[in-house]
Amino acid sequence: MNQAGETDFDTDAVGGAGKSAPAGIAGMKVRGKLNADAPLDKLVWFKSGGPADWLFEPADLDDLLTFLAALPQTVPVMALGLGSNLIIRDGGVPGVVVRLGKPFSSVEVQRDGVIECGGGASGILVSSTARDAGIGGLEFLRGIPGTVGGFVRMNGGAYGREVADVLIDCVVVLQDGSCVNIPAADLDYSYRHSRLPDGAIVVSARLRGTPGMDPAAIGAEMDRIAHAREETQPLRSKTGGSTFKNPPGDKAWRLVDAAGCRGLSMGDAQVSEKHANFLINTGHATSADIEGLGEEVRRRVSESEGVTLEWEIKRVGRP
Ligand SMILES: Cc1cc2nc3c(=O)[nH]c(=O)nc-3n(C[C@H](O)[C@H](O)[C@H](O)COP(=O)(O)OP(=O)(O)OC[C@H]3O[C@@H](n4cnc5c(N)ncnc54)[C@H](O)[C@@H]3O)c2cc1C
Repeated sequence: MNQAGETDFDTDAVGGAGKSAPAGIAGMKVRGKLNADAPLDKLVWFKSGGPADWLFEPADLDDLLTFLAALPQTVPVMALGLGSNLIIRDGGVPGVVVRLGKPFSSVEVQRDGVIECGGGASGILVSSTARDAGIGGLEFLRGIPGTVGGFVRMNGGAYGREVADVLIDCVVVLQDGSCVNIPAADLDYSYRHSRLPDGAIVVSARLRGTPGMDPAAIGAEMDRIAHAREETQPLRSKTGGSTFKNPPGDKAWRLVDAAGCRGLSMGDAQVSEKHANFLINTGHATSADIEGLGEEVRRRVSESEGVTLEWEIKRVGRP
């Protein structure tokens, strides 16, 4: 078992930092930014929720490894991407939230249709870099507003493709400050799920597309995806993407609709009129409003449709 309480991966170690005595988080020396009681609401799509006990934005990989190696193992660690699939509860997040910013957002084209991406790179940057290099098969990432780290954890997907189809491997920093390379096959991917341990941070990933394609055709497909999303999803709202997983053989939005929940609200939280599987914050909704509305939808769908919807949005932190 590793520190995250999960079975160890059969992986190649690719780096790590030596253990040093924890001096208390406030006294820890970092080169990036480390702030106590740091607001997270501005950093997530729902624009709600409480602060992180600590928010760490590492300067680079070494900074992250050194910090985690010195951090007491009892302190919880959570990665944050663009917060596009998250409800941060109103009481805030215990421990350390790690946000990979610019130092982790590079995207580089390698040989044979392989693209190496930082864990903080956005889906748009990955898909447009692939397009410019004539690499097809990654267009679907154009429409998913998140980072590579979030995609790898959530097995993000759209339009019939998902990360499991294109991921070769990823480099992951574990909570003890060790760094391992995990092949895609070891992540046991299923629909919007991987077995990445809690607290593990994806710092980079290699994706494979199809080389030698026409950039204009790839661009046209990306435009089609962007347009289709604009038509069907509340992209300009404060939201968290698909709220519930599609149950086998059905669509979550159809069940929410059938249970009469489209437009239902709780405080300033509302089931989107545009897409019934999206919750939106129409003003100053608290995370309790948003999560409470989601639970009410689950209750009504279960009562009227006999299906228990499973949350796709991750809900984290103290109520
Ligand atoms: C308008 C809209 C449309 C969307 N459409 C889709 C869609 O079509 N398909 C789809 O799959 N999703 C969709 N989503 C949801 C969301 O974009 C994806 O789940 C995305 O993968 C989340 O990425 P993120 O970086 O923002 O992660 P966050 O929302 O910040 O975090 C989500 C989870 O990933 C973890 N995480 C984040 N970064 C890392 C990292 N570096 N290492 C390890 N774990 C990490 C977090 O701890 C958390 O558990 C949509 C969301 C919105 C708002």
